[in-house]
Amino acid sequence: MISEITKAQLLVLQVGRLKDAGKVEHQHISMAKRNNVWMALECARLSRDILGANGVADDYPIMRHMMNLESVKTYEGTHDVHALILGRAQTGIQVRKGWHNKTSQPEVD
Ligand SMILES: Cc1cc2nc3c(=O)[nH]c(=O)nc-3n(C[C@H](O)[C@H](O)[C@H](O)COP(=O)(O)OP(=O)(O)OC[C@H]3O[C@@H](n4cnc5c(N)ncnc54)[C@H](O)[C@@H]3O)c2cc1C
Repeated sequence: MISEITKAQLLVLQVGRLKDAGKVEHQHISMAKRNNVWMALECARLSRDILGANGVADDYPIMRHMMNLESVKTYEGTHDVHALILGRAQTGIQVRKGWHNKTSQPEVD
């Protein structure tokens, strides 16, 4: 857990440095959001597991963190959509044609 948290902190530190230098691009933001929300959810799941049955009771607040993070996973841009953004930046291939161009959408009868 400490290794993943430290790696996540280094990732956002580097994105912050790129932003300060005026070099940040949207795929850098996607990578940071996608990785760090995933990492936080994994840490919450591991914490729940460590607590055993107490992890699903309300004696400990870990489920509250998990539910909060599940909403963050959607409203910060979903994991899959960030993956598409990263894939396009890496390969130059837009997976879904017409995504940003409504005129090329198939016509509906
Ligand atoms: C608590 C909360 C607060 C929010 N606050 C705000 C706010 O303040 N402002 C705001 O603008 N919005 C807000 N939202 C909306 C949020 O940003 C959207 O819910 C989010 O962008 C996902 O859109 P959607 O719900 O329409 O899901 P959809 O886009 O329908 O996605 C459903 C599923 O399909 C997947 N999917 C979608 N498109 C593709 C694709 N092309 N290829 C592969 N998979 C795909 C997604 O990854 C997801 O798993 C909030 C949402 C929540 C839950």
